[in-house]
Amino acid sequence: MICEIAQLGAQVLRQTAEAVADVHDTEVRRIIEAMQSTLATTSGVGIAAPQIGESKRIIIIASRPTPRYPSAPLMEPTAMINPGFQILSDQQEKDWEGCLSVPGIRALVPRFQEIGIHYTNQQGDLVESKLSGFVARIFQHEYDHLEGKTYLDRVENNTDIFAESEFVKLIAGRNA
Ligand code: ZN
Repeated sequence: MICEIAQLGAQVLRQTAEAVADVHDTEVRRIIEAMQSTLATTSGVGIAAPQIGESKRIIIIASRPTPRYPSAPLMEPTAMINPGFQILSDQQEKDWEGCLSVPGIRALVPRFQEIGIHYTNQQGDLVESKLSGFVARIFQHEYDHLEGKTYLDRVENNTDIFAESEFVKLIAGRNA
């Protein structure tokens, strides 16, 4: 099922999402499938359940090179239930982010470079892993959606916010 993506201003994007009590619940499977098929119709690299109107603690990380993120590393799309993370290094880096719920905008967002993550997978196993760089950035972006935050809340200065059309010009200029 392809869902409409909640847009900035929608209340579901401002709520704290509810923990998943039973990963084997058919409702959980339905939500994950809807997130996967909805994400596949976009050039996004991740999605959180609140973005399809489900206030549950589920995210999908699907880093792959796309027109939106040409240098993204390729990985298997991974559904993470009740995810959490710890900061492994205080070092933050600013880089560009966009969001399917915030169309037409890109901004520079500071994120931690090294994080330790944990989540429950669809089989019900607890998984622990370390992420760095761009994939750590996607994780922190999607995790924020579960806390009722968008990346715009992390922007340090309004001058770090660009219209997508200006962002495209900037990147084209840099790669010329
Ligand atoms: Zn987002």
